[in-house]
Amino acid sequence: MELFDSHCHLEDDAFDSDRDEVIERAVMSGVIGVVTSPIYPEDSIKALKLFRRNRFVNISIGLDVAEYGDERKVEDTLKLIEEYSDDIVAVGEVGLDYRVARTGPPKEKQKEVFRRFIKLAKEIDKPLVVHSLWAQRPVLRLLDEEEVTRVVLHAFGGRKEDVEFAVSKGWIVSIPTNVIRSKNVQKVAEATPLDNMVLESDSPVLAPDPKQRNEPANIKISAKFIAEMKGYNVEELARITTHNAIRVYGLG
Ligand SMILES: [Zn+2]
Repeated sequence: MELFDSHCHLEDDAFDSDRDEVIERAVMSGVIGVVTSPIYPEDSIKALKLFRRNRFVNISIGLDVAEYGDERKVEDTLKLIEEYSDDIVAVGEVGLDYRVARTGPPKEKQKEVFRRFIKLAKEIDKPLVVHSLWAQRPVLRLLDEEEVTRVVLHAFGGRKEDVEFAVSKGWIVSIPTNVIRSKNVQKVAEATPLDNMVLESDSPVLAPDPKQRNEPANIKISAKFIAEMKGYNVEELARITTHNAIRVYGLG
C-alpha cells in the first residue's frame, strides 16, 4: 500500500528529538512521501536546511494567518518563496482564519495578504495549500475570484455545498487523521469524491488520539477508516489519494 501525507509540519520542534525515527515509521507504514508546511520564516529556513534535497519530505512555504499583521514576516516569507521556488512544491499553508480575526489581523487585512501569496503562487506556477478556519465560504469565494486552479484545501471544515463547489472547480480536499473522531471531518470526507481527495496528518496536531503527538505514519489509520466509511478497498483508496497528491503537487 502506498500512502501520501499531503500536509504536516515535520520541522516543528516537537520532532527535534526523534525526527528520523518518525520518518522511518512513516516509511514502514507505507507512506511514500510527505509535504511539510512551515508557517514562520525561521521554520521555513529550518525546513530548507533539514529537507531541501530530501526525496521523501517535500516543502511548501507559508505563513500563519496570525502573523499577517507583521509586514516584516510577510515580506520575509514572500522572499523565501521566491528565492527557493525551485526547492518547494507549493505555497502555503496560507489563507483566512476568522477565529484569529477576533484578536489578531482583521478580515480585510487577511484577505489582502492572502491575495499577495496567491499572486506569487501563480507567478512561480505552484499550487496553494489553503488554511480556512471559520472562513470556508470566504476562502472559496476569494480563490474563485482569483481564478486559482491548483488548490489543496487543508483540513477543510466546510459544509456539503462548499465541498461540492470546491469539487466543481477541480480543487483538492485534504482529510486529516482526526477524521476517526470528528463528526464534522467525517461529513467532509463523505461529501468528497475520491478523485478530489488527499490525506494529511497535520502532524504534530490532529492525531487520531487527541492526547498524542501526531505523525505521518497515522495516515494508515485514517485511510482504513475512510475506506470503510465510503465502501472502498483501502488499497484502492491509498492508490487514488496518493495519485491525487502527486498530481496536484506536480511530483515526478
Ligand atoms: Zn497545518
